[in-house]
Amino acid sequence: MCGRQGEVGRAGIPKQETNAKQKADVKSNKGFGKNRKMSDIIEKLKTTQNAEDDEILRLLNTDEFDEELRIAADETKKSVYGDKVFIRGLIEFTNYCKNNCYYCGIRGGNTNADRYRLSKEEILECCAEGYKLGYRTFVLQGGEDLTYSDDDICDIVQSIKSLYPDAAVTLSIGEKEKESYRRYKEAGADRYLLRHETASEEHYQKLHPSELSLEKRKECLWNLKELGYQVGAGFMVGSPYQEPEHILADLRFLQELRPDMIGIGPFIPHKDTPFADFPAGDYKLTLRILSVIRLMFPYVLLPATTALGTISPNGREEGLRHGANVVMPNLSPVRFREKYSLYDNKICTGEEAAECKACLEMRVKKAGYRIVTDRGDVRR
Ligand code: SAH
Repeated sequence: MCGRQGEVGRAGIPKQETNAKQKADVKSNKGFGKNRKMSDIIEKLKTTQNAEDDEILRLLNTDEFDEELRIAADETKKSVYGDKVFIRGLIEFTNYCKNNCYYCGIRGGNTNADRYRLSKEEILECCAEGYKLGYRTFVLQGGEDLTYSDDDICDIVQSIKSLYPDAAVTLSIGEKEKESYRRYKEAGADRYLLRHETASEEHYQKLHPSELSLEKRKECLWNLKELGYQVGAGFMVGSPYQEPEHILADLRFLQELRPDMIGIGPFIPHKDTPFADFPAGDYKLTLRILSVIRLMFPYVLLPATTALGTISPNGREEGLRHGANVVMPNLSPVRFREKYSLYDNKICTGEEAAECKACLEMRVKKAGYRIVTDRGDVRR
């Protein structure tokens, strides 16, 4: 069983004093003043998909309205996608990386990382296994590994698409030239995941070495959109130096980009990175942000991430209850799983693909939803 059921989550959840009467008033919608206003903000987010900066900040800064927010997010999700949860087979095909992002365990500068890369044949074996299990999306994710040329990536994508024409291929291989993105698209790639990581220039510089820039990252995302990919952006919750204003900027950038997918999960420290001693992102805040995102982007494909399942034993189920509608079980060969270590204590490194799927199926059901065998394209 993956996910360490029963253990206590790693992230400290700040206890906040709550007033029972206030809560009751909010639930019955009889509250006045500040509380009443907060219900109005949630309602406004739900009906208009937007709110003022100060309203969003107030919502992010309190856990008092989490249940109300969760219910609104769940209703919105169900109105677009019903009780469907989409599955993506994740193939982590290389942990070599030329970059040195300060938060990431597979950064090029980590000399303790035990590096591996999968051959085309090994990737196709993962897809064969996944297809049998009902996966109709394969996500190829890796570090920025220049050993795979554009020709190699196109060859891999083309092979998957010709073997499984009814499956979608998602790439998540970092920043490339527009011409490369164009070639992958022509080879058949359908979607691309590239989290923007943070939409604040000054915060971006604190998470990355100087050769990486937010400007370039954003340019890649706009290029991907222009080329007709279904695009995913996103960010970590609780990354070092993150302030509520940064999260607000992330939401505003997402409104501008209008991505089809949004990936968010808590930051979790990795022992061999400059951020080893920073605390993990807050669990409740991550759930709250999932709900806010669902209200602002009703159509979006929103995964309950492995990182969320890592900081809390039932994190993925709770993610689904708070607005998420995608899970991404691991299809990578088990012998390499531990090596794709973006952060410490990552879950699901020991199970074969079939076990992973069965475990998630059980979790999805427990949360009150059902997994579908479907490409799971965005519904605008
Ligand atoms: N090279 C690809 C894939 C990166 S790994 C790219 O550049 O897009 C996928 C995501 O994992 C990253 O975008 C980042 O948001 C997340 N991640 C990396 N390190 C992490 C950490 N320590 N804690 C939580 N998430 C992390």
